Amino acid sequence: MPSGDFDVVIVGAGGSGLACAIEAAVQGASVWVCEKGPQPGGATAWAVGAFTTSSSPHQAQAGVKDSIDQHFADMDLVNAGAQRPDNLLLRRLLVEQAPPTLRWLMDLGVRFMGPYAETPHTQPRMHNAVPGGAALVYHLLARARQLGVQVRCQCELQDLMVETGRVTGVVVRDADGSTRYVRARRAVVLASGDFSGSRAMRARFFAAPVVNAEPVYEQNTGGPLELAERLFSTAIVNGDYAAFYIPRLRFVPASSPSWVTRLPPTRGITGLMQWGLKRLPPSWIRPFMMRLVTTVLGPEPALFKQGAAMINPSGQAVKVDPASPARALTLEPGNLAYIVMDHALASRFEAWPHFISTAPGIAYAYLSDYRAARPDIFHSAASLTALAERLGMPADELEKSMQAHWQAGGRSAKDIQGPFYALGPVRGYITITEGGLSVNEKLQVLDGQQQPIAGLWACGSAGQGGVLLDGHGHHLAWAFVSGRHVGRQLMALNQTQERP
Ligand SMILES: Cc1cc2nc3c(=O)[nH]c(=O)nc-3n(C[C@H](O)[C@H](O)[C@H](O)COP(=O)(O)OP(=O)(O)OC[C@H]3O[C@@H](n4cnc5c(N)ncnc54)[C@H](O)[C@@H]3O)c2cc1C
Repeated sequence: MPSGDFDVVIVGAGGSGLACAIEAAVQGASVWVCEKGPQPGGATAWAVGAFTTSSSPHQAQAGVKDSIDQHFADMDLVNAGAQRPDNLLLRRLLVEQAPPTLRWLMDLGVRFMGPYAETPHTQPRMHNAVPGGAALVYHLLARARQLGVQVRCQCELQDLMVETGRVTGVVVRDADGSTRYVRARRAVVLASGDFSGSRAMRARFFAAPVVNAEPVYEQNTGGPLELAERLFSTAIVNGDYAAFYIPRLRFVPASSPSWVTRLPPTRGITGLMQWGLKRLPPSWIRPFMMRLVTTVLGPEPALFKQGAAMINPSGQAVKVDPASPARALTLEPGNLAYIVMDHALASRFEAWPHFISTAPGIAYAYLSDYRAARPDIFHSAASLTALAERLGMPADELEKSMQAHWQAGGRSAKDIQGPFYALGPVRGYITITEGGLSVNEKLQVLDGQQQPIAGLWACGSAGQGGVLLDGHGHHLAWAFVSGRHVGRQLMALNQTQERP
């Protein structure tokens, strides 16, 4: 017996699922969301919060002349490294709907800083949610609840109900282990994220460095993608695409986050933060913003291109491919290391364009930001021996490894001076995977014959459909654009129009 009956059932309460839920509920739909995790948010809550778009109020205020068409064209540059075809219909949807979607998020209460430059974009387009991705989830969830959307946590999709070729509902395992059947009169929307949390799926598509990498958000195990594959022969497009952040070096998150991370990102509080970012001396406000970080920050590959070394806890150098510094690390036992630099190199990472990482609120974090706010991952000492002691590694091994590293880089002993710095520990993480279900431009899921499956839609990473989203800020833009796009169509839909 069905134990629920709604217009729309959404699988996953991350960014795309909540955006979809809000838009459907605004049109009068009754909406039920099943969420596998203990709380809503998904990878979206872990995100730095970068949202990349043209034509924003921030660009207008900064006098930036940009356009949707220029953003569309620039994505050829941004995605050039992928060396595979893009889904240009979905790219068009992304760049056209990103500007109104940024404004929609702002109307919900999210504040953004920016626009920030990022190469190879020809215009500054990156806008950062204050203080980070968790603020996006906070405001989306508040609006969804206000509209009567029901979100059920610890409730995992197990199967789809299919009647005469139409998806009519979901079978879920509820928090208490019981099975629930929930009917969807209009649509089931898969908004279940990527498959980075599944070692088996990683092994299916990738080689050992990605398989061994640690997932940032482990609940996204791709079950709903495999279900669509099994029931309808739907393709997972670009499942094997290892973008530059796959795997990605990231700092291990703080074991005891600062109390400021518990501040609710209300409009009032984020307004104060924004005011502080604009008006207060950077030496006051930047450490505060850095302490708010709830994500796992990723050191830039540029650190290694410029000459930093990666050293494992035994004091030995890890071989670094500057194009993907995490690759070799994921093959090391323990998948753990420190980034080690001498003073001359470290002092280069104090101003644009040499940043250590992107960071919520402040966009780019430099060495002094880490010094001021992250004692858990910033270490310095006058000598290598003292640094080794601080890191708990054998001093003679560290000394040997660093001398060999500097020699290989053509630096003589007289060039090298303390103090010496280490950042870490770092690990090879799998941030997100790029494979999403094959969808049409409405974001209906397609079967093996490229025909829309009646009643089944997808958005966010689950509905990525082959659109390439390299660079910073396109994934969140896609999550919200695609979630809204699906949500807006569902109540207007005459169900006989679902098939072309
Ligand atoms: C550390 C980090 C930083 C990032 N920073 C940025 C950034 O600054 N800018 C940017 O553009 N992108 C960023 N990204 C990527 C971005 O966060 C994701 O691409 C985006 O949030 C995906 O949204 P989504 O709704 O598709 O998935 P999610 O937000 O992951 O939501 C999917 C939800 O589905 C749930 N779920 C999964 N399986 C099931 C199931 N079987 N049943 C029920 N529920 C299920 C999950 O628990 C999850 O809550 C970052 C990602 C990470 C990990």
